[in-house]
Amino acid sequence: MDRNELSNYAKAAIIAAGGGVFAVGLANITEESLSWGYFSILIFAVFFAPRMTLALPRSRFAISFSDASVFLTFLVYGGPAAIIVATLESLASCWYLKGKGFPFGRLMIPTNASINAVSIGLTYLIWLSVPRAPFITPDHGSTQHLLATLGSLALCQFGISSLLAAIFGALKEGTNPFTIWKRDCFTSSMTQIVGAALAGLVFKLISFGDLVTGIIAVGGLGIAYLSYRQSIGEVNDAISTAEAAERTRAELERERRREAERYNEELKLLLEKEENANAALRKSESDFQHAALHDSLTRLPNRKHFGDMLRVLIAQYKKDPTKTFHVIFLDIGRFKNINDSLGHTIGDKVLMIAGKRFVRMLNPDDMVARIGGDEFAVILKGLSSTGKAQKVARRIFESIKQPFSLSGNNISLNVNIGIAPCDAEYSTPEEVLRDADIAMHYAKEKNSGVAVFTKELRTKFLERIRTENDLREALDRDELSMSYQPLVDLKDGHLLGFEALLRWNHHELGNIPPNKFIPIAEDSGLIIPITTWILQDTCSRLARWQQIDPSYRDLIVSVNISGKHLMHGDLIADVEHALEMSKLSPSSLKLEITESVAMENADQTINILNRLKRLGVQLSLDDFGTGYSSLSILHRLPFDTLKIDRSFVYSVGEHGENSEILQTIISLAKNLRMRVIAEGIETNSQLKLLQNLGCDYGQGYLMAKPMVAEAAERALYESRTWLPEERGMLVNTIKGSAKDAQLPVF
Ligand code: C2E
Ligand code: MG
Ligand code: MG
Repeated sequence: MDRNELSNYAKAAIIAAGGGVFAVGLANITEESLSWGYFSILIFAVFFAPRMTLALPRSRFAISFSDASVFLTFLVYGGPAAIIVATLESLASCWYLKGKGFPFGRLMIPTNASINAVSIGLTYLIWLSVPRAPFITPDHGSTQHLLATLGSLALCQFGISSLLAAIFGALKEGTNPFTIWKRDCFTSSMTQIVGAALAGLVFKLISFGDLVTGIIAVGGLGIAYLSYRQSIGEVNDAISTAEAAERTRAELERERRREAERYNEELKLLLEKEENANAALRKSESDFQHAALHDSLTRLPNRKHFGDMLRVLIAQYKKDPTKTFHVIFLDIGRFKNINDSLGHTIGDKVLMIAGKRFVRMLNPDDMVARIGGDEFAVILKGLSSTGKAQKVARRIFESIKQPFSLSGNNISLNVNIGIAPCDAEYSTPEEVLRDADIAMHYAKEKNSGVAVFTKELRTKFLERIRTENDLREALDRDELSMSYQPLVDLKDGHLLGFEALLRWNHHELGNIPPNKFIPIAEDSGLIIPITTWILQDTCSRLARWQQIDPSYRDLIVSVNISGKHLMHGDLIADVEHALEMSKLSPSSLKLEITESVAMENADQTINILNRLKRLGVQLSLDDFGTGYSSLSILHRLPFDTLKIDRSFVYSVGEHGENSEILQTIISLAKNLRMRVIAEGIETNSQLKLLQNLGCDYGQGYLMAKPMVAEAAERALYESRTWLPEERGMLVNTIKGSAKDAQLPVF
């Protein structure tokens, strides 16, 4: 059975018991009891007492007149009369409270009334069953007896009613009855005592004597009650006002606290925001710093960062020479070609891959930086010898060669590496980098991959810089001129034309050989304006020479074109311009392009050569045999002439040894429908052999050395023959590579 059910059963039981007690009370009420006095108390108890409860300020105690009415009835009219008053007064009180909005549960009103009826009934039963000790006899005269009687009544009644109420409360809340009793009932004992005391007082007054005294006493009590009620009311009002003020203050306090909390929250939020902003600022500051010191593409340190680090190491080394370092300069070979042919996106990726490979080859202590387009630099710390730095450089050199695939392109890189060891002479990072760069250029020039910087290299480098600067001025100073070397038809000694060869007569150093200054002119790009000038000079000169004699109308001039001019210069426009200015027939101009240049960028070369061909000029493949021609490319190149490199001619012995290569080249040229010209013919036996092999043309000291323009012109006027037999002279051997004569050797 659950608690609710139990509670309902208990309620039903008490209501039944209460009803029974009430009925017994009604049945046993004596006739004398039904007096006006009794009805007055009953009316007072039912209609007034419930409304007259005086709550003592700031306490849970109240003075109730209900208990006083019940006890008074008990004393004056006996137990049964008191049962009726107690039951009805209880019902009236409950109805009154219900009217005031007190929430009574189901059956609570009859239960309450029944509890009162039962408790008074039982008190009465106890009263009847206890032997009448003199101290509890309602003796009208003895105050002690009255107090003892009232005390016993109140104790009994309170004990029973509070116990029943606690049991019902416990059933309702599901707790211990004693807890409920302590909490709710204990304080009501005071009410009970006060009620009993009031009852005793009234009983005493009534017992005193006459009606007048009774009326005066009741009147007095009424006035006391009213004035007490009045003052209690005032006290309660004051308390309510104070409480209201307290509530307002508390509310204000709460509001203030809420506001403070709100403010606190806002402050926290603000601080948080500020903290976030600071963090963002710090981050952007560090990002900015990172960006200032790093390369955005490879994420490696940049030139500035590298320089800063190097500066520190230079200072350290000066103080303590055991703290060594080596700087490596790395330049990716032909990176421009990758960029031009595969595009910048691939170019960027290649740089990223190269950067990663460099990092992988080094210790975490070392630094790799990107210091320019395709230039990287490394600092190696603490190596005991330059040999070890060379080993590291070699490792990098080998590892970078590993081919990789990028967007379907197979790419293999190569680097040129220069090493600059630490030196106490260095005082700035730029000096170390410059020397590593010099070593790198040396490695590039020598095709050695890796080179270590030495002071001699610097001297050579400075010399080269000087040469470059002088060459820049050479055109204006009129130090450049052309030499002309005859190209001869080997069948009949007929003059085909001339090869124009550049000469530099330096104002201080005299004649500088082409193989010394032409590479510098090519590297610096000076070769382009120089060749533009050569084209104009030679074309107009040849146009004039063609006028000397009708048999010279078909003379040609061969001009050497550098790879740089072919790829990056405006060669076609330059050629057109030279032809236009000189009025020379395009077929009289032949352009010589070395085999290595033609093969390097075959597709691009074929395109440009075809355009040149459309102008009507002739093309000659120079230094054939030195550039590893691919046959498949060779037959696509629109060359008219193939020029056998002089090293092949030179290696032919007195009796025709080693002539197989010459034979092969000549038959290859014939198959490709090209004319063949052999350069470097110095001996009669070479000439004879070449004639026997069916070589079309020849050029060499045996026929004529390169000669200044005036000498060539004189020879034209003299209508010389160019083959030795025809000249009736026997020139066996012209040894060595004698410096160009200003005049022909014959
Ligand atoms: P190259 O185009 O193969 O020119 C032929 C070279 O062979 C010339 O050297 C010429 O003097 C030399 N030579 C001719 N016959 C003989 C011989 O019987 N024996 C020996 N030992 N040498 C002979 P040079 O004039 O010193 O030119 C060297 C190279 O410089 C040329 O080789 C050419 O590649 C370059 N060069 C010369 N002039 C120019 C120019 O105007 N423009 C460009 N781009 N390069 C030029
Ligand atoms: Mg040539
Ligand atoms: Mg040549």
